[in-house]
This record gives sequence, C-alpha cells and structure tokens, in this order.
Amino acid sequence: MNTTKLGRTAKPSIYFITLLLGATLLSACALAPEYQPSTAASEPDNQVPSEASPGISEATVESEEPKSNATPPAIESSPESLPEPEVSLSFFGLPKPDVDYGVIDLCEEISKKLGSVSTQDCLNQHMYSNGGFSVLGRPIALREYPELPTREALGRVLLIGGIHGDEYSSVSIMFKWMEILNEFHTGVFHWNFVPVTNPDGLLREDSRRQNENGVDLNRNFPSADWNDSAESFWLDNTDSNERRYPGEQGGSEPEVAWLVDHIKNFQPDVIISVHAPYHLVDYDGPPEAPDQLGNLQLNRLGVYPGSLGNYAGVDLDKPIVTIELPYAGIMPSESQISEMWTDLVAWLIQERTKDR
Ligand SMILES: [Zn+2]
Repeated sequence: MNTTKLGRTAKPSIYFITLLLGATLLSACALAPEYQPSTAASEPDNQVPSEASPGISEATVESEEPKSNATPPAIESSPESLPEPEVSLSFFGLPKPDVDYGVIDLCEEISKKLGSVSTQDCLNQHMYSNGGFSVLGRPIALREYPELPTREALGRVLLIGGIHGDEYSSVSIMFKWMEILNEFHTGVFHWNFVPVTNPDGLLREDSRRQNENGVDLNRNFPSADWNDSAESFWLDNTDSNERRYPGEQGGSEPEVAWLVDHIKNFQPDVIISVHAPYHLVDYDGPPEAPDQLGNLQLNRLGVYPGSLGNYAGVDLDKPIVTIELPYAGIMPSESQISEMWTDLVAWLIQERTKDR
C-alpha cells in the first residue's frame, strides 16, 4: 500500500478538524495538527474475526490474510525456527553472542510480514530499544515524540500495538499514526509508541496470538487478581483454550515484564492499546471514556485476570483505551485511520484540560 497516500488524505482533515476543535474545545491549548482520532476496544475473547468488509477498497486492504481464526499452533516453543546463538570470541577474548536482532533486522522482518509496512517505512520511525527483548531475543522497539521546548505537553500517552501476534492491523496502524505525527507533532502530548509488543508471535511463520512460550501476553500482566483467578478463569471460562493461556505466573513473560517496567518508568497519563477484530472501543480506569473513535463505538467489555486493562486501568488507576479494529488482517480505510486519530487526540485534549 502506498503509505504516502495517508499523508495526503490526512492533511485536509487535520486542518479542518483543528479549526473546528480550536473553536470549540480549547483556547488554553493551541490546537495543533497533532490531531486525528482513533478508537479502542477491548478484547472479547471467543469471537472470530469477520471476513473482509465488502465496502473496503483494494487500496486499503493489507496484502496479508487475516490470521486470527487460524488454528492455534502448539504451545511449546519451536526451537528449530531459531538460529542457535553462535558464540565467537571478541577482541578481548571474551565470549560474545553473535546473534544480534537489532531494530534494522526487526524492520526487515516486519516488512516481510506486513504488506503495508516497508522496511523503509519502519526504519523511518527511528525506533530504538531500551533493554526490552522478546523470548527469542528480538528487541521491543520504541518510538518517542518528546515534549517540545516550545510548549508544555498536556500529558504523556503510551500507545501499544501487537500484543497479540496475529492481529496485524494493530501493528500496521501504529506505523500510520507515527507517520501522521512525523509530520504534525507539535508537542501537545508527549507520545511513546510500542508498535510491536509481541514480535515473536507476529514474526513466526504462522503468526499467532501468544508469545514464543505459548502465553497470551494480555493474560499475563501481574494484576492483583492474577494469583487467585488467572488459572481458574482460563480453565473454567475458556475451556483451557491455549490461545488464552495466562502463563505460570503473572508477569512471567519477558515482553510483559518489560512493559510493566516501561509503564513504571514512562508514567503515562493515558494508555492506548490496539487490538482487533471486535470493532469497538473499550475503556478501563478513570475518568470518562470516549464514546466513539472514528466509527468504533464504546462498548465496555469488562476486564480479565492478567489483562493490561485490568492491570493498568484497575490496579494502577490509569485511563486505558482499548481499540479493537474491525479486522485483524485488513487495515481500516485511510480516512478511518485518520478520523480515529483525530477523535482520539480530541478526546485526550478534552480529558487533559478538564481540570485546568
Ligand atoms: Zn488482541
């Protein structure tokens, strides 16, 4: 998909909405083209993604197929898919691992998996890692849009994509929104993106929901109720569905442990987590949920033991918007991508300026 198209279509809507919002929403905060909303939804567990929407034009369709309804692979890891870490001697004669999945390698892998993200699109984001790695040693890459010296940001916002490896659109849309910010970041918020939280799940040959250890990362967060409820919920409510396996301990998985740490360090005021394919917005934590993001409507689904919504929204008392895109393997239209972003930013500004 031609990603430059997004920028072209996004601009007029950004300016238009900026003008509108500027008139109605805020005088305190100079509205910036940082505007374009999107939605979140939570994660109903046992549904199956729908087929492609007949209304979606070819240009908006990812080349990859939806995979969320694929037969889940076995839980055990598949060591044969991994290169054995070779050990060589460094200059100083110390053993040094020779396998280095850097962000460049990650981008190459992502571009092979996702039709709408080229290697260059990915490299253009200048992502970095700060010590977070997947089970297979892939970096959990970040992109930062910091506060600017010219204005005080209204808050810190953490956006998370790809917790579930078979929800391609939740990763691709992160890149689309980063492209919008690359052009329009004006410091209204301090943004932090984690577009691919479960790289091993995404990048295996048959992408799957769980990480390499067979754990559903969105059931592995160390929520207060994890010890009491995670296993029994899995046994009784999902019939031991391996796609919902919460792991042996809350926070046992490296991807989750890193994200817990990252939340502690970054101290987001709001968390946005993107999933697919349930076509809605879910919300946990204070204060008020967005009613609508693009064409996604608010539909609160409740929380699960070990879910990020439970951990961050209930335990940490942080507002968390869960966006459930309509399809796992098909991107929303470009106008929807930018409308969701506009609505999301408008809601963030409204929430963050309420008490000022
Ligand atoms: Zn999901």
